[in-house]
Amino acid sequence: MSFTAINPATEEVIASYPAHTREEIEAAVSAAATAFTSWRITPFKDRAEMMTRAAQILEDEVESVATMLTSEMGKTLTSAKGEVLKCASTMRYYAEHAESLMEEEIIASPASRSGIRYQPLGTVLAVMPWNFALWQAVRFAAPSLMAGNVGILKHAHNVPGSARYLEELFLRAGFPTGVFTSLFLGHQELADLIADDRVAAVTLTGSEVAGTKVASQAGAYLKKCVLELGGSDAFIVASSADMARTIPMAVTARVQNNGQSCIAAKRFIVVEDRAQEFIDGFAEAMSTVVVGDPMDPATVVGPLVSAEQRELLDAQVSDSVAKGAVVRAGGHTIEGRGFYYEPTVLTNVPRDSRAGSEELFGPVAVVEVVKDLAEAIEVANSTPWGLGGSIWATDPREIEQAIDGIESGMVFANALVASTPELPFGGIKKSGYGRELSAHGIREFTNVKTFYIA
Ligand code: NAD
Repeated sequence: MSFTAINPATEEVIASYPAHTREEIEAAVSAAATAFTSWRITPFKDRAEMMTRAAQILEDEVESVATMLTSEMGKTLTSAKGEVLKCASTMRYYAEHAESLMEEEIIASPASRSGIRYQPLGTVLAVMPWNFALWQAVRFAAPSLMAGNVGILKHAHNVPGSARYLEELFLRAGFPTGVFTSLFLGHQELADLIADDRVAAVTLTGSEVAGTKVASQAGAYLKKCVLELGGSDAFIVASSADMARTIPMAVTARVQNNGQSCIAAKRFIVVEDRAQEFIDGFAEAMSTVVVGDPMDPATVVGPLVSAEQRELLDAQVSDSVAKGAVVRAGGHTIEGRGFYYEPTVLTNVPRDSRAGSEELFGPVAVVEVVKDLAEAIEVANSTPWGLGGSIWATDPREIEQAIDGIESGMVFANALVASTPELPFGGIKKSGYGRELSAHGIREFTNVKTFYIA
């Protein structure tokens, strides 16, 4: 098995690495276990200095790191730079706040003194996807390492450069050997690692298929597990929406990261009194989105990550069109070099067709017209997922109704669903369980230890 990066814009192989051998894996797991014994008692101040240095290196190297991200998975250079800087700011956030987020809590009880201490668990194994190759890994690593855990990253097979860069970044910032390691692992080696007594917990960001597999392996060995899986977020356009702002945001919500984001809006649910206006404006705006070379600053949408991902998206669109969906913009693969797909808007999509029932990981929007906000919320909740959702409305009553009614881990009003280190990030239903970021994220991989002094 090899870990090979192919530039999706040029279809050229960038680099290829063999999987790590059994001996190399054993050495890494053993080094992580050794590192944990001293890392767990390293003062917050020292950990924070290293984390801040890592942030500084990322900021200094933003251009070259962003170029690597763009060539490995095709996101625009502009968004890649944003991703790198967001990693740096999240590292700074945890460097600054980890100590207070992990502070002992005193709780009144019959004891003379009692409460909670948060203590690290040990080696946390992180299984990560390619779509935000740096950010997904940092979203796990920054809080986990600051909490005193050590990490082993098993990255997606197509972003080996990002995986290696991260390991080197932490070493260059002064983190001791073994505190953060990246391994190129096949699925069997991953399963063996989950079973290893020296691995304390597992976190996976990725598809439902991978989540089910890894969670069941973690469950078999009673390991704590956090899952950040797929989504089909609703973007609800309510009667009171400010349409001039809503339409451009709808485009960004769907095409960000070339449409390959778990929290991209995938279903646009619009109340009938605003439907014509929204659909006409949205279809027009989507058909004029600039698609092209992701290195070009004028480009808004680059290629999809791979030929397979594009075939899947095209099959989903074709199935729905064959069953009666109406194409209002795009709808086709773009011929030529690179895995490009037209920004697409579909209406009248049958619920039992593929675009009506599956996650669309590319720039394809499904628009559904409903009677009123109550029905919009009902439709938003009619999927197996529950990651995020947004409401576009100027009436505060409509906003409150949506926040209360949407069944998902996150609801945003008049803003794109996004992650920020201060707030918890995660989903419910088949979008996974557990939370990343904020106090909740840093405490996921800790022992919430009760103490009681009589
Ligand atoms: P993927 O599930 O194919 O891969 C994710 C990781 O899991 C990779 O490291 C992969 O090697 C590993 N993996 C895959 N199958 C496995 C198996 N059977 N056993 C063990 N490990 C396995 O997902 P992807 O295609 O890389 O990413 C796209 C998916 O990730 C989408 O569904 C997207 O919504 C989701 N995602 C979710 C979040 C979130 O925060 N909730 C963020 C980004 C992506």
